[in-house]
Amino acid sequence: MANAQPLFDAGFGVYVHWPFCLSKCPYCDFNSHVRATGIDEDRYVAAFRAELAHRAALAPGRTARSIFFGGGTPSLMRPRTVGAILDAIASQWSVAPDCEITLEANPTSVEADRFAGYKAAGVNRVSLGVQAMNDADLKTLGRMHTAEEAMRAVSVATSLFDRASFDLIYARPGQTPAQWRDELREALTRAPEHLSLYQLTIEHDTMFQKLVEAGRMTTPDAETGRALWDVTQETMNAAGMPAYEVSNHARPGAESRHNLIYWRYGEYAGVGPGAHGRLIVEGRGRVAQSTEKHPEMWLTVVEADGHGLIEDELLSAEEQGDEMLVMGLRLAEGVDPARFEALAGRKLDQRRVAALIEEGMIEVSPSGNVRATPEGFPVLNAVVADLAA
Ligand code: SF4
Repeated sequence: MANAQPLFDAGFGVYVHWPFCLSKCPYCDFNSHVRATGIDEDRYVAAFRAELAHRAALAPGRTARSIFFGGGTPSLMRPRTVGAILDAIASQWSVAPDCEITLEANPTSVEADRFAGYKAAGVNRVSLGVQAMNDADLKTLGRMHTAEEAMRAVSVATSLFDRASFDLIYARPGQTPAQWRDELREALTRAPEHLSLYQLTIEHDTMFQKLVEAGRMTTPDAETGRALWDVTQETMNAAGMPAYEVSNHARPGAESRHNLIYWRYGEYAGVGPGAHGRLIVEGRGRVAQSTEKHPEMWLTVVEADGHGLIEDELLSAEEQGDEMLVMGLRLAEGVDPARFEALAGRKLDQRRVAALIEEGMIEVSPSGNVRATPEGFPVLNAVVADLAA
């Protein structure tokens, strides 16, 4: 097999992208689309089946440790659509008995009513887009739920599923570190085993970008942003939910297995409009794949060609090393230098490692991994760029 790469037990997962939302949030640059008319879910299921068969032909014999329904808003899918896609995955690959099967959900009451159906279909973990714990900020963020509704959805989720997570966005316009500390503490009284805490970034081509450019919205300055970051780490460490990844906090053992596959540079099939994948293909090596983003165009292409791939590129050793560093240094555990060498075909640059250790940005863990320090995490992009150069 050309350019064979060991998996280093980072595992195999399947990502399913459902690209529809009820409305477009003003900060969102995900591949999400609003449709005025109903979605023909059976037609989408048939297309997902075709894509899954295509990927399984490229990467046969795998065992899925994780399946993730992301979006978009997968909690707009009918439970039987979710069940049909899970059946299609199981018909192509083995599914580990303890496979983590996550569905992203918005915490409206309508969607919470579907949770039991998702559980019956096989979902065993939900990730809820709560985003803020007060109605004023939810309105600013363009969310369609109230704080009370969100907490009810969290209760339904935690009563039905053994595993649940919710997301909050911080560094919102006008937010102070003291307010964020109070909000986080409130969240922790409701929190399941896992919280994703994302710092608001103004993305290209979003409504928020237009508002910022027009001077109609300001986000916290860099100093406040750093103070908000520090509050996040202090509060979550004190609660026994330290960051295992830049924006993700969990009780020990409750980490998202799916995201760990990405960050540990494992192997994953991505199906659906605008999905990304990394597969190790017999005779080729590790390939980067992505699909047509536009939902109806994706359907048409899959129906014609049996897959929606618009990118299917072999990654060079250097590219794999870079990707592994970018992903792995997001993790508190860091990266294994021996694995980097096996992927990249070269050792980490020892002079750069030494310089970054000297600056207090990275350190070597007891197991020998290279990892970011608490000082390095807030400036991780610069650290990775330095190390990868
Ligand atoms: S619900 Fe999520 S995916 Fe949909 S527009 Fe809002 S942030 Fe984007």
